[in-house]
Amino acid sequence: MTPTIVQDPSPVLRATASPVPTSDFGSAQLASILADMKAALAAEDDGVAIAAPQIGVSLQIFIVAAKALGKRQKEDIVFINPKITRLGRKREVLSEGCLSVRWKYGMVKRALTASVRAYNEKGNEFVMKGEGLLAQIFQHETDHLRGILFIDKATDIEDLPPPKKK
Ligand SMILES: [Zn+2]
Repeated sequence: MTPTIVQDPSPVLRATASPVPTSDFGSAQLASILADMKAALAAEDDGVAIAAPQIGVSLQIFIVAAKALGKRQKEDIVFINPKITRLGRKREVLSEGCLSVRWKYGMVKRALTASVRAYNEKGNEFVMKGEGLLAQIFQHETDHLRGILFIDKATDIEDLPPPKKK
């Protein structure tokens, strides 16, 4: 069954997520959380990323959908215990929404480049640099892990009706 995406206002979206303990890497429990996150993300046509608190799990994990990363990327990318290590100085006000704040959109000032250091599901550390949409995703998702939603930062918030299902 596809897990339900938690909606604002819900306490889990406002909690500070806990780091995944090193001993949990490679565990069936972690694999099951990641599978739930991927399923929930895949069920949303407009979903480009999801954080664990959005399925009610207060752990420091987010996943970026392959489709947000271009045609050559086939697999979703898992970020465990992510830390932003670098934020570009250039900032821009960008339109933003959230799978947990349906169906609001607003304008948020974000750095145009951002680097994240994280662990993959096997526990291997990696660093990824993002530009544009990916940099925006890194900032939005790491905010989720600190209990911050885009509506806390956004201006010009408006309600837009959900797109019609094809
Ligand atoms: Zn979000």
